Amino acid sequence: MTTPPPTAEPLTPAQLRYIAQFAETYMARTPGSAAAQRTAYPFLADPRSSGGPKAPPAIREFWNATKRMRYPIVGKRCAGSRGWDIDGNEYIDFGIGFGVYLFGYSPDFIVEALHRRIDTGMTMGFQSDVCRDVAERIARMIGMQRVAFANTGAEAVMVALRLARAATGRSKIVVFAGSYHGSSDATIPGIGMVLGVTPGAMGDTIVLEYGADASLQRIAELGDQLAAVIVEPVQSRQPWLQPAAFLTELRRITAAHGTALIFDEVMQGFRIHQGGCQAHFGVRADLATYGKIIGGGLPMGAIAGSARFMDRLDGGAWSDAEDLFEVDKIWFSGTFTKNPLTMASAQAVVERLSQDGPALQERLNQRAEALVDRLSIWLREHRTPVSIARFGSMFRFTGPPPMTLLSHHLAMRGIYTQENMLFFVSVAHSDGDLIALEQAVKDSLLTMRNGGYFA
Ligand code: PLP
Repeated sequence: MTTPPPTAEPLTPAQLRYIAQFAETYMARTPGSAAAQRTAYPFLADPRSSGGPKAPPAIREFWNATKRMRYPIVGKRCAGSRGWDIDGNEYIDFGIGFGVYLFGYSPDFIVEALHRRIDTGMTMGFQSDVCRDVAERIARMIGMQRVAFANTGAEAVMVALRLARAATGRSKIVVFAGSYHGSSDATIPGIGMVLGVTPGAMGDTIVLEYGADASLQRIAELGDQLAAVIVEPVQSRQPWLQPAAFLTELRRITAAHGTALIFDEVMQGFRIHQGGCQAHFGVRADLATYGKIIGGGLPMGAIAGSARFMDRLDGGAWSDAEDLFEVDKIWFSGTFTKNPLTMASAQAVVERLSQDGPALQERLNQRAEALVDRLSIWLREHRTPVSIARFGSMFRFTGPPPMTLLSHHLAMRGIYTQENMLFFVSVAHSDGDLIALEQAVKDSLLTMRNGGYFA
């Protein structure tokens, strides 16, 4: 746990010179990736590495100064904790596919399940034969009644909100500033990037500060006007906020008003704990959304919740129903939902998670804790303005804008993560991998200090 990052300062001439020199070295190491961007982007429209839609002036200056080296590293091959780029560089990957690969790249048990499914045919349109098993295992692990599947985390969030609105008959929702729930119109006001979203589409979305007492008060005032409060219990963008008491109180207030409390567990579900943030914080949500880890690398989302909400999808366990139309239902469908490859991969993942039990997450959390504790001591001793916020096996470096330059320095030393500086410890990372990360962070920061940063 730590404090928010310091704000950006304008770049000094020495820093600008350092960036220019470093960019040359970086581009010399990854010429294939640099060329790929030059040749692909006339055809490929790709927001990744573009700096995002909005930035204050000092951050803009930094992005523009570093833009020559802001191209995605093009991957060629991966296995376990490693990835190789098209220039033949090897990386220990701590970004693990935006947090997806809890078991590392291409673990045998997932690859074999996928091969088996391909061999038996990818029957779309017929129901996948593993749906019940996957739904039941998820429901048992997270302690929810019923589970439905979607294609992505954003889609799962969209469905959860629709279910909440259908069950409560209300329109307004609360999202918290800093929460990311995917790119759908209703929830991106949480990260403030709303160009192209109509006022109508977000007119029912109320954005409040996360973890603040004033927000609880506002939610209580809004009372039974709210269909749902959706919360990313620990935000990947601000992981230093872990407001347990706030969540407990939020549960109490929403329950008192019949408002759905939705936990967005797309990032933390099955990572912080088998039962996700609900188990970690001891707070039961009405609905929860999942994605990332459970798809085992294939696109997947899931919505889980109590029958009060989930029955709005299908009318309930309808073999028991006298009248199939007794419950008003929402519309949700998707051509690729429950597609056979995703379900085969998900089955392999949930089977493994159930076999390993909570010890799997506990061990990862402990290993990440030991690493982050060691690094945090070093950062303090060296008086850097950099700190690390950890939640379980996920951690994020925070500091002024050269933080993204740190990701480039790490890449030069064979350590990969995305520029958001989010790191994940997976089952595939060895103790040696963690030591390599630790050493690379220290070397990188000392090099950057010599280049005029963090003096
Ligand atoms: N919710 C959270 C908490 C996320 O972190 C993400 C993605 O990072 C999403 C939702 C959206 O998931 P997807 O990218 O699969 O649509």
